[in-house]
This record gives sequence, C-alpha cells and structure tokens, in this order.
Amino acid sequence: MTYPIVIYGHPILRKVAGDVEKDYPDLQQIISDLFETMYNSEGLGLAAPQIGKSIRIFVIDGTPVSDDEPSLAGFKKAFINAHITEKCGELKPMNEGCLSIPNLREEVNRESHIRIEYYDENWNFYNEIFDGYKARIIQHEYDHLDGILFTDKVNPLRRRLLKSKLTAISKGKFEADYRTILPGQKLKSV
Ligand SMILES: [Zn+2]
Repeated sequence: MTYPIVIYGHPILRKVAGDVEKDYPDLQQIISDLFETMYNSEGLGLAAPQIGKSIRIFVIDGTPVSDDEPSLAGFKKAFINAHITEKCGELKPMNEGCLSIPNLREEVNRESHIRIEYYDENWNFYNEIFDGYKARIIQHEYDHLDGILFTDKVNPLRRRLLKSKLTAISKGKFEADYRTILPGQKLKSV
C-alpha cells in the first residue's frame, strides 16, 4: 500500500529515528510500502519518517535517472539501522528536492564520500563506501533519520529567503501528485 507523505513542519520529520530489531512488526511490509510509496510519488529515495514512522529505514532506487547517471542503474536498496560512520572528500554542490518539501529545489553542499553501516531487507550486514551520486542520495535520505532536512543545509542567506516559502508549504500551499499529511494532521501510526 502507499502512504501519504508527511510534509515540512510536521514534528515527526524533526525526530531522531531509532534502530529496529530484526523481528520488528511488519518490517518486510513497511519496506515494500516504502518502495511503493516512493514509486507512486516519483521519488528516488524515501525515508520511514516521511511516512510517519520514526525508525532508521530508508529505500532508494536510482534507476529512473540512470539514463543521465549511469552509475545509478540498478541501484535499488533498502537500508535498515543505517549509521554513517565517516564522511570525507570534497564538499560538492548539487540541486536537491524532497517529497516532504514539494516544488522546492535548492543547491546543497555534501561530502563526496561516505562510509555507512546498515542491514538490508534480508538482514545481511554491510559496511560500505559510496561516492558520487549514490553518496548524495544516501546522505539526503539518511539525514531524514536524524531529523535533518536539505533546506537546513542551504547557505544562510538563501535560507532566509526560503522561510516564507517553507511556511506556505507547511500550510498546504503546494501542488503534489501524491497524498500528503500536513503539520497538525494526525498520523495513522507512529
Ligand atoms: Zn527528503
């Protein structure tokens, strides 16, 4: 099933999400719902807090942009209990957007390399290094687990200019082709 996407301003997007146990209720269902919700809203990644669950899980599928970014072909993964242990390399700027912040794109600087520990959906453990576009998407989704949004990372001058746009978004003044939950609206479950 697809979930509505939680929109900027909702407090769950600001919580630090917790690890899950292997026997967490409906874990496989949640992962498949994350993928389904992500495809339905045409995102490249989706983190559990964005569907109202404060747990350290996100999913990514870079295939839709692999024509432009060949490195993303077949880059489809679930990250469970994700923990970035190292970030290094050059800070590089790139335009980002977020399903929780519709119709807004801004340039964000991020490190070019990361090391991340996580489990996949079959509970295999990984300790891997990613770079390039993969590292970019992972860092964006990972930030959601720590209550951080990409707009927190744009330069301070730009951020001041964004303030009124973000307030408007949090009040529902946006267009999206997917269902959403605004701040103040109740989540089905947390
Ligand atoms: Zn996002």
